[in-house]
Amino acid sequence: MLGTVHAAEHGLIGLLPLFTICDRWDVGGVSIASHPQTGEPTIFVYDGYPGGAGIAELAFEASERHVRATLDLVEGCRCDDGCPSCVQSPKCGNWNEYLDKAGAVALLRLLAGTR
Ligand SMILES: [Zn+2]
Ligand SMILES: [Zn+2]
Repeated sequence: MLGTVHAAEHGLIGLLPLFTICDRWDVGGVSIASHPQTGEPTIFVYDGYPGGAGIAELAFEASERHVRATLDLVEGCRCDDGCPSCVQSPKCGNWNEYLDKAGAVALLRLLAGTR
């Protein structure tokens, strides 16, 4: 589960600049297999500026398109288990440990409503 939410988080962050006026270095992410406040696997993608630069609002508005585009990218990527073009991130604080590309595709499908 951790690899699934982690890989999906990276994919989402990588594509966010297409939908908001930002750079991937402007946003941060945290993914947790079971978060105490949601009781579920949870991915946070947050605006990295103190106080926020409006990225979260734009991202929220574009969320459906954003999730779909991320699904297309990760699912369409020709690598086997994740590469820098899809689910690996140059700024990962965990050295891209535990990334489950297939899991991320399944999760993104669920989020996009196309199983
Ligand atoms: Zn790939
Ligand atoms: Zn990471």
